[in-house]
Amino acid sequence: MKRSAELELDLSPEDQAFRNEVRAFLDANLPKGWGTRDYAGPRDEPSRIQFQRTWQRRLFNAGLVAIAWPKEHGGRNAGFIQQMVYSTEMVRRRAPDPINRSAIAYVGPTIIQWGSTWQKERFLPSILSGDEIWCQGFSEPDAGSDLASIRTRADLDGDEFVVTGQKVWTSKAQFADWCYVLARTDASAAKHQGISCLLIDMRSPGITVRPLRQISGRSEFNQVFFDEVRVPRRCLLGALNDGWRIANSTLRYERAGLSGTSRIEQRRDILVALARELTVDGKPLFEDPVVRDQLARFAVKIEALRSISARVTATIVRGADPGPEVSIAKLLTSELDQAMADYGMDLAGPYAALVCGSPHAVKNGNVALSYLIMRAATIGGGTSEIQRNVIAERVLGLPRSSSASR
Ligand SMILES: Cc1cc2nc3c(=O)[nH]c(=O)nc-3n(C[C@H](O)[C@H](O)[C@H](O)COP(=O)(O)OP(=O)(O)OC[C@H]3O[C@@H](n4cnc5c(N)ncnc54)[C@H](O)[C@@H]3O)c2cc1C
Repeated sequence: MKRSAELELDLSPEDQAFRNEVRAFLDANLPKGWGTRDYAGPRDEPSRIQFQRTWQRRLFNAGLVAIAWPKEHGGRNAGFIQQMVYSTEMVRRRAPDPINRSAIAYVGPTIIQWGSTWQKERFLPSILSGDEIWCQGFSEPDAGSDLASIRTRADLDGDEFVVTGQKVWTSKAQFADWCYVLARTDASAAKHQGISCLLIDMRSPGITVRPLRQISGRSEFNQVFFDEVRVPRRCLLGALNDGWRIANSTLRYERAGLSGTSRIEQRRDILVALARELTVDGKPLFEDPVVRDQLARFAVKIEALRSISARVTATIVRGADPGPEVSIAKLLTSELDQAMADYGMDLAGPYAALVCGSPHAVKNGNVALSYLIMRAATIGGGTSEIQRNVIAERVLGLPRSSSASR
């Protein structure tokens, strides 16, 4: 059977030209040695950020960033087939993510859907170029799954909001220029009402960012404190007190972004390469029928997921809202991704525990690193339990649980 990434789609001349354009771009722009043992990528967080900035700038210059966005906002209005071609080519070359991957996936689309003309003109170009990095200030210490419990306040004072409160798990906040914040603007209203969305300049006086160290050793997310931060009223996204509706559209864009299969297809390829490389008694693990059986099971699940993700993409391309069904894709993708990272540890055996720097570390410690990083996959963007609740209540129509959640 051909691997899905190699499946030949029946492409029109226009789509073939697009594929050639993407291939030529990747040939010309991926770093020298990319995808081979010789390539030593950036190790620490600041150099990873710089690397991704440069990568996004190259995509941007070639008109290959945010291809699904409407043309008038700097995208290409790419249809379903070209989006599939793009993701297939990126997987094939294991291309890196642009620095603003999440802003492209959900901040930009939310601004396109709800933003004012000023907001679209001010923010969309620099999201595309990567000149301004965004973070998402939704979660708080007592408001994660139960997002509507946020307590960060934004009180109107003349033409400005005064924002006070704390956010947590804010990815990239230490590097971000802007933060998309959910805040309570009417404390007397019911829990899901009285919330508004604000776009906050991270250099405003009164903001403190404290990185949090994760199990992987990295500090990808942060605590963010707002102490009477003044935000101009024109940075209110959508209508005052309409934030819950707007945030829900953002979460759907976010989950749609997290449910694409490109990452798990890359992990499948890495696992297969690992099984070919590692040997027991001189024989590659790939020849072991038990290993082959497990790899085949992963491959079959990925094929099923490709269909689900394709349906989500096709719905968005039609201009429709993928709705709560996007939770099915997010749940299955993140759980499969995690299971494959776990299996990498099984394949690597006792050496799997060695991290980067040890001479015996498998794949320079990347197997162990992936395993640790992937613990977060079933939490970020809404936990698996919450996705199951959404599927049960809003897709299958089963009775509601007592607490409403993100
Ligand atoms: C890598 C990563 C990056 C993140 N980046 C960001 C970011 O940039 N911005 C941001 O705002 N947030 C971010 N988050 C936060 C993420 O959205 C929250 O962690 C997530 O929504 C869960 O909230 P919580 O951590 O408060 O857990 P809780 O909501 O306290 O949940 C704890 C446990 O209880 C379970 N639970 C809770 N309620 C229910 C229920 N009703 N039914 C069944 N089980 C339930 C949960 O599934 C979980 O297992 C990130 C998280 C991770 C892991």
